[in-house]
Amino acid sequence: MAPNHGLLLYEGKAKRIFDSDKKGQVLVEFKNDTTAFNALKKSSLKGKGILNCQISSHLFELLEAQGVDTHYLGLVSDSWMAAKRVEIIPLEVVVRNIAFGSLCKETPITEGTELSSPLLDLYFKDDSLSDPLLTEARLELLGILSNNQRNEIETLVRKVNLILSTFFEKLDLILVDFKLEIGINAEGRLIVADEISPDTCRIWDARADSSSDRILDKDRFRKDLGGVVEAYAEILKRIQEISPNPRIYK
Ligand code: UDP
Repeated sequence: MAPNHGLLLYEGKAKRIFDSDKKGQVLVEFKNDTTAFNALKKSSLKGKGILNCQISSHLFELLEAQGVDTHYLGLVSDSWMAAKRVEIIPLEVVVRNIAFGSLCKETPITEGTELSSPLLDLYFKDDSLSDPLLTEARLELLGILSNNQRNEIETLVRKVNLILSTFFEKLDLILVDFKLEIGINAEGRLIVADEISPDTCRIWDARADSSSDRILDKDRFRKDLGGVVEAYAEILKRIQEISPNPRIYK
């Protein structure tokens, strides 16, 4: 159920951000809408919003417990969370442990190749340009980040990768790659924002026999494999087996 909220500040493909009556905070609603290929493919998947909100809440709490600052404040209802208001840096920060997706379309590296060390790719977040991959020189040219911020983001996302990969491994899940968005909070600090869910991560089931059965993330939607919500629910079930329920924010 929708909590009391203020004005709609922003509507994205999978979430809506509303003003909160608490200063410096927002309310985030996770939608059932799902899109792929820069919104050329669209659908609504019943239950997806709740699953992504719950999974994100667990993962943000895991990060916070290990000293990573995030925008997360707590769950407000099934598919709503409270978050700190931040200014989002227009970058999609992708970390890859195993080659898949665009990396294999744009290079000769074959799908499933384990990378000898995690690869960091920065994309310019702009749908009208189809989120292009940035070189370091283009990043500097655009002036989106200072050198210090660039290095700080790299340290931050590599730490997040280590925490999430180690956690998923305990659940027989493999973190193939993921995308993070970084926000700048009121004090000018860089913090993890947006969501961390099977919409934004590639997660494989180490218990599965076949390569299509192992996919538990949005690739099930991208590739028309079916069972998208069931796969997300399996991830949440495994997380719930070892972690307490996310906190409720009042
Ligand atoms: N990703 C995302 N939003 C985007 C693009 C990518 O959350 O707009 C995630 C995607 O789900 C995957 C990772 O970032 O976990 C790497 O995606 P990739 O660059 O391989 O692109 P894709 O194959 O999704 O086009």
